[in-house]
Amino acid sequence: MIIENDVKLDFSDVLLKPKRSTLVSRKDFVLSRVFKTKWSQRTFECVPIIAANMATGTFKMANVFSKYNMLVAINKFYSINEWIAQDATTIANCIYTIGMSDLEYERYLQVLDVLFALGKIKSKQDLHLCIDIANGYTKRYSDFVKKIRDANPSTVIIAGNVCTAELVQELILAGADFVKVGIGPGSACTTRQKTGVGYPQLSACIECGDAAHGLDAGIVLDGGMRSPGDIAKAFAANADFVMLGGMLSGTDETDGDIEERIVQTNIIKRSHDGQIIGLQEEIQKHKIWYGMSSEYAQQKYMMGMKDYRTSEGRREEVPYVGPVQPIVDDILGGLRSAGTYIGATGIKQFGKCATFLRVMRQHDRF
Ligand code: 5GP
Repeated sequence: MIIENDVKLDFSDVLLKPKRSTLVSRKDFVLSRVFKTKWSQRTFECVPIIAANMATGTFKMANVFSKYNMLVAINKFYSINEWIAQDATTIANCIYTIGMSDLEYERYLQVLDVLFALGKIKSKQDLHLCIDIANGYTKRYSDFVKKIRDANPSTVIIAGNVCTAELVQELILAGADFVKVGIGPGSACTTRQKTGVGYPQLSACIECGDAAHGLDAGIVLDGGMRSPGDIAKAFAANADFVMLGGMLSGTDETDGDIEERIVQTNIIKRSHDGQIIGLQEEIQKHKIWYGMSSEYAQQKYMMGMKDYRTSEGRREEVPYVGPVQPIVDDILGGLRSAGTYIGATGIKQFGKCATFLRVMRQHDRF
């Protein structure tokens, strides 16, 4: 048994230090980044925020995200016909998800064929691929990534999840352009409770980002961000992309129905002869939010889930919050503002400009 004693940090353990800024207006802040990928050698520009391939990985989400040039990892339970029904602009902002499954890979190839034949993608390399598995630490998984890379030399491939530098390097050497980083930080994830396994997400970001950048590849920091400030910290810690689930939950664009419930609350009414307690009825709306390996998801998607993840996910009710657009605006506004505070002219400059202050962890305050 070994104990590593150096401190590992999470988002709430740090703050960004304000610095002199040359930015005249927040409007001048550059949200998008240009990426040139290591293996696929593709150049593309986008705002580096991805909606997770959970209930947030929907075409409705992609519709909205495409207006911001942000990306959506579409969940893997859409049929080929549902892919066909999308327009080219929406598809341009989608990432196709598969697990470690030949069957799902075959279906990806079929979707590519059909979309290409219909002119919805210009080339069969235009649809980025995310090879997603809860535990990216097995040799079988890196072999699978290698197999897919060999067959698709010019496709952007994202592989994960892992949370340590050596496995980031292994997956890059197997063919990933980007490695997805995060074991256990997700809002609907119970891995840490069920297995005791995990890694504080900010340190994972710093260490894995360093490992990936040393090999001219990148990382997608996946999970654990609860506020726009956490996203600013992720970019400051050298994340190339962030992937968000929980922050986008409860919106119209996520999978699942809105449920209504009548809630009774006590209210105090003042009458001429004193106070009386009355009951007030209020309709609360909520949506179900669930981890992709929760029993709820397994039942919802039935056959598709069998070999996906062990049940390390939870189901919960989250308040219904309406359209996702104000949430996106809030995130982008937060990033612009963070840029003016730390003297960064764009997301790309965050890493260079940032100084983190270690603070006493204060869960409730930020
Ligand atoms: P969030 O932004 O909600 O904190 O994290 C989103 C990420 O949580 C997803 O992209 C995915 O990596 C992870 N995730 C989704 N469902 C599950 C699950 O059922 N179990 C675990 N362990 N992680 C999950």
